[in-house]
Amino acid sequence: MKRICILGSTGSVGTQALEVCKEQGFEIVGLSGHRNAGLIETQARTFKPGFVCLTDKAAYEKVKIALADLPIKVLFGQEGIDNMLGSCRCDIVLNAIVGVAGLRSTLTACGLGMDVALANKESLVAGGRLIMDEAGKSGSAILPVDSEHSAIFQCLAGNKDTHDVRKIILTASGGAFFGMTPHELQSVTKEQALAHPVWSMGQKITIDCATMMNKGFELIEAMWLFGKRPEEIDIVVHRESVIHSMVEFCDGAVLAQLGLPDMKTPIQYALTYPERKSNSLPRLDLAAYGKLTFRKPDEETFICLKAAKTAAQRGGLYPCVLNAANETAVKLFLEDKISFPEIGERAVRAAETDYPFHQEDYTLDDIMRADAYGREMSFPAKRG
Ligand code: NAD
Ligand code: MG
Repeated sequence: MKRICILGSTGSVGTQALEVCKEQGFEIVGLSGHRNAGLIETQARTFKPGFVCLTDKAAYEKVKIALADLPIKVLFGQEGIDNMLGSCRCDIVLNAIVGVAGLRSTLTACGLGMDVALANKESLVAGGRLIMDEAGKSGSAILPVDSEHSAIFQCLAGNKDTHDVRKIILTASGGAFFGMTPHELQSVTKEQALAHPVWSMGQKITIDCATMMNKGFELIEAMWLFGKRPEEIDIVVHRESVIHSMVEFCDGAVLAQLGLPDMKTPIQYALTYPERKSNSLPRLDLAAYGKLTFRKPDEETFICLKAAKTAAQRGGLYPCVLNAANETAVKLFLEDKISFPEIGERAVRAAETDYPFHQEDYTLDDIMRADAYGREMSFPAKRG
């Protein structure tokens, strides 16, 4: 029985991961959440982990009192997560925290030599070099949870030599506004942006899908996971989200991984790897789809995708600056403070900044400085 620690257990990926663990009979040894005290208390009572950590102070105080009758250590903050990872003796940690807030935990897990099932793509977008170096030194395996990267990982099974890979082809659903013009995008609302055509996910990634920043981030994520340059990664819009991604080999053969769009499949594969386990998930019926469609993404309209490619090409900490500007802009959009196209405008400005962020041998402190710079760029603090 595998021992699993789930960071971000109260979110969309986290709750689905707990369902997978329940069906597979995995032991939950640690959980983390941010603000949702009620849900993490329920999860703790159901799965009885040795450790629970909250990163919001008020939620921590609440949960500490609520779980006082159980032999569960309730911890607080990033230090709490780091201590939990150091003490819970898990086989694998699933990082399903949203945003760059998840980076420190990925780094800690890699530093401890733990295997990481990684949903938190922002870890690799903001600090890919540092994370991959740390994992390389300690022998941590980073197992992709993102459905596209899980697909590529599965297509590469038995072909570890990625020199044979000519191209990675990432599929994109196109998000809520596929086919719209820049003019039409000016008046879209938050409610429309949150209505994703295929996937049901957390708010931040749903907006990232609508702007197509998510696909730009996934390109950067694929660069780190599979050692590819930006120009070796193609993006194709595939509205049905049945093909989760593809790999083209040097001889022209293309392998694809297919399935119903359900995050439980890649979550489970990351947790059971290298084995496959049967489950009760619904199965793909291709005849019911009839046809699958493929289109080029429109980078002139969805300028976040272009911004991500610019940042990826510039390298260093430009993707980190871009991520920070994007996180800030998405938050402002969700608070009705900026329009939808302004997210893209801020992303482009961040990716094209003149400030030098080229250094490749960066530290965690450098990442934090670049992150602060990107946030300030996207939402300048008022100076008196
Ligand atoms: P979500 O918003 O539903 O959940 C986020 C989790 O992170 C929650 O448990 C929350 O409590 C926690 N959290 C929030 N702020 C935090 C902070 N400052 N410190 C620590 N923890 C914090 O998000 P989600 O949709 O589950 O996505 C999680 C990650 O997985 C993201 O990086 C996302 O890009 C990636 N991902 C999600 C999906 C999906 O289907 N939802 C698919 C692929 C990749
Ligand atoms: Mg994805």
